[in-house]
Amino acid sequence: MIKRKSPAQIEKIARAGRIVGDCLAMMKAMCLPGVSTAELDQAAEKFIREQGGIPTFKGYRGFPASICASPNEMVVHGIPGDYRVAEGDIISLDVGVTLKGWVGDAALTVEVGDAGQLAHRLMEVTETSLMRAIGKCRPGNRLGDVSHAVEEHVEANGFSVVRTLVGHGIGREMHEEPQIPNYGNPGTGPELKEGMVFAIEPMVNVGTHKVVVGDDHWAVSTADGMLSAHFEHTVAITANGPRVLTAGSAGEKPGMDAGPLLW
Ligand code: MG
Repeated sequence: MIKRKSPAQIEKIARAGRIVGDCLAMMKAMCLPGVSTAELDQAAEKFIREQGGIPTFKGYRGFPASICASPNEMVVHGIPGDYRVAEGDIISLDVGVTLKGWVGDAALTVEVGDAGQLAHRLMEVTETSLMRAIGKCRPGNRLGDVSHAVEEHVEANGFSVVRTLVGHGIGREMHEEPQIPNYGNPGTGPELKEGMVFAIEPMVNVGTHKVVVGDDHWAVSTADGMLSAHFEHTVAITANGPRVLTAGSAGEKPGMDAGPLLW
């Protein structure tokens, strides 16, 4: 069952989501050559707790950190540590915040210095596929319309969507129903209704869609070692259309359509 949220409950998710968006913006600014993923994690946890939030990922199924930091060929779920980002890297950063019992979740891929044309195109296509999916988050559409919007845009640009990892409903729990694959058929699946809140998160690979899990049992990387990007927002379906809850205080536009976001 997909749990629908009242307008007051959506405001609570938005307050958690604002911390998520601001935390990602802070980490993006920190992504200069030489910074370690452990330093990003420490800064994120401090920031989240200063705002009264709890880092949702920390301890989730035993995950040891507040953020996921996944450089280059790593798709998602990288455990922060000694790795120092270098000029020409891309790195995907994912963060969740629980505030007063409600959760927001978002991610972005950041370029360190100049990562080159292929990386630029990958990041642009991934983020645009997210915005197209967000644009489908309207009452009366189907979940398959959201999934298909990602797949169609990614494949038209010659990249592939990861199939074994999905987006999700979100609210009091980080992972609620439904699962939201990044591929699917339009006009299929549950009907979207006001009050549903989704974390939509295209994970897009330059080469094969296939992925492998690392020795730490967390890090997911592309099977062919080629680059991957990840963008995610928590989005509420309202009578007026999609409302992005994790754009951060600088990027908030209540009731916004899938226009340009902060990143
Ligand atoms: Mg998520």
